[in-house]
Amino acid sequence: MINNSTVRLLKAMAFAADKHRFQKRKDSAGTPYINHPIHVAQILAETGRVEDETLLIAAILHDTIEDTETRPEEIRELFGQDVLDIVMEVTDDKSLPKAERKKLQVTQSSKKSESARKLKIADKICNVTDIIHHPPGNWDTERRLEYLDWCEQVLHGIRGTHDQLEDQLIRIINEGRAIIGSEQTVH
Ligand code: NDP
Ligand code: ZN
Repeated sequence: MINNSTVRLLKAMAFAADKHRFQKRKDSAGTPYINHPIHVAQILAETGRVEDETLLIAAILHDTIEDTETRPEEIRELFGQDVLDIVMEVTDDKSLPKAERKKLQVTQSSKKSESARKLKIADKICNVTDIIHHPPGNWDTERRLEYLDWCEQVLHGIRGTHDQLEDQLIRIINEGRAIIGSEQTVH
């Protein structure tokens, strides 16, 4: 049975797909970018058992402002202020140098709302999975492992947010270390 929530979720997917339409992930296959926000929303729903429509819609839209020309007013008008608030909380300030942005995620994430912290963990689960199985083509082992270390540091700042999501992120980071480490041994 299609209800209003389903319609809003589909509308968010169509909006994000359109905004990310010319974007690819950084893996060598050039995976369509939209695969990522859909995966993040799925992790929240399945692993996180999240039923909050506002958070699931924010997950679908979470990289539109950071990575596309989307304006905050578009999200406010189409999906409401509550969705926009979460998206803005997980949007990095691109005017800052990258090292600064990465440090802020470690030191400032604990100040975010519970919804934003859950979204952040699901985002990291998805990105770590990609770093293991579909990494950017030009990343060497060291850089992939450094990315895992950084995700672990971000997680340490927001422990106590959601047990299942945190356990899954820890598990996937450790799996990643073993897999990426063994790839290095083989080569
Ligand atoms: P980036 O921030 O440049 O890239 C990672 C981000 O790209 C992810 O967080 C994700 O963000 C997005 N992304 C797109 N495609 C993929 C994919 N296939 N797999 C994973 N993520 C993807 O990385 P960093 O600069 O953090 O580099 C990682 C580590 O390497 C750092 O800790 C740094 O110290 C080290 N390093 C960095 C260098 C640099 O030039 N930056 C050079 C050498 C080492 P989203 O969710 O927004 O899509
Ligand atoms: Zn993301």
